[in-house]
Amino acid sequence: MDRIEKLCIEKNMRMTDQRRVIARVLSTAHDHPDVEELYRRAHEVDHHISIATVYRTVRLFEEAGIIERHDFRDGRSRYEEMTEQHHDHLIDMKTGKVIEFVDEEIERLQQAIAQRLGYRLVDHRLELYGVPVEK
Ligand SMILES: [Zn+2]
Repeated sequence: MDRIEKLCIEKNMRMTDQRRVIARVLSTAHDHPDVEELYRRAHEVDHHISIATVYRTVRLFEEAGIIERHDFRDGRSRYEEMTEQHHDHLIDMKTGKVIEFVDEEIERLQQAIAQRLGYRLVDHRLELYGVPVEK
């Protein structure tokens, strides 16, 4: 059983075969796919899955805190499994490629800023947008 399916069961979500397929597709994706892409992959496994089902299921998973939605400014919502290890994203504006990174210094800095403003940091999002440096 994949991680997403396990989390769904823990949250007492009713798991249909189609939801299970979509959960598996999400669990194995490492490229922040959008709904269209998730639909393409899920449809390959089960031809009865409709795009409406994919939309409904990702919304359900998102509301349950199992997956995370990102908006990388290309007008499409992208999804990824909620991970225990936090990471940030750099988006290649030429290719749309999403690169994950973790930087301890940035993490510390964000904590310090929140603290300075009188807050305890509970979450943050950082997206860098860039084009490859010409060599
Ligand atoms: Zn990510």
